Amino acid sequence: MTRIACPFCGPRELREFEFHKTLPTPGAQGAFARTYERVADPALSVEHWQHVAGCRAWLLVHRNPSTGVVFAVELAGEVMP
Ligand SMILES: [Zn+2]
Repeated sequence: MTRIACPFCGPRELREFEFHKTLPTPGAQGAFARTYERVADPALSVEHWQHVAGCRAWLLVHRNPSTGVVFAVELAGEVMP
């Protein structure tokens, strides 16, 4: 079962979180890549998630989109609309 470690609430199940969007990774080139490539790198994806069933914090989740393995979770620097 995939878990995301919320900086405020600790490790919680994925269903407590809501996916917002995939962020462009440093390797993506140009506007086309940023706009249309949902996953720029099949081994690493940086995504905005919100802890909707908890503290409602916005998080940056670094994970492998192929396996779902989460590498790191950090607090997002800004609140997304
Ligand atoms: Zn939380």
